[in-house]
Amino acid sequence: MEIVCLDLEGVLVPEIWINFAKKTGIKELEATTRDIPDYDVLMTQRLNILKQHGLGLNDIQEVIAEMGPLPGAKEFVEWVSTHFQLVILSDTFYEFAHPLMKQLGWPTIFCHKLETDEEGMITAYKLRQPDQKRESVKALHGLNFRVIAAGDSYNDTTMLGEADHGFLFDAPANVIAEFPQFPAIHGYDALKEAIRSVSQRTIPA
Ligand SMILES: [Mg+2]
Repeated sequence: MEIVCLDLEGVLVPEIWINFAKKTGIKELEATTRDIPDYDVLMTQRLNILKQHGLGLNDIQEVIAEMGPLPGAKEFVEWVSTHFQLVILSDTFYEFAHPLMKQLGWPTIFCHKLETDEEGMITAYKLRQPDQKRESVKALHGLNFRVIAAGDSYNDTTMLGEADHGFLFDAPANVIAEFPQFPAIHGYDALKEAIRSVSQRTIPA
């Protein structure tokens, strides 16, 4: 039994915060964990900025819906889902992912959760558990799945290491250089080939 685990941002959809900042023109939202390494400080700052701009969850979801998946992502998800079971493992939030999951045909996703008040303003965030991508792969192993995983960044490397086969997909050069143990794949056609090549079954192209 084989299952495919894919990262979301940078693999199937654009980076949500970066594109949200671009689309809304709110420069301060461009900060990432590279600028503010403490994730809690970064998220608290982001939520405060959203509040200052009067942006509730509905407004945010509308902007995210406009981003859409990356070109070819929907077809790729369909291909994976035809031949494997698919779980998306992401460090985004269900509420942000929702409009994009709709456009991808509602694949299963495990991620984090936001809390909102009666006005729909985001008040807090709740992480599923520490290192949840790796823990998810471990749990799938507990269910006797062989896991094939792909992701594009640092927050994927423990998932890739835990999986039976882990691929870096369209990753930045520094990540590829730091993690040479994971084959670096570019483009969905190549990722299909990589997944087919490590599958124990014969998967049509
Ligand atoms: Mg990513």
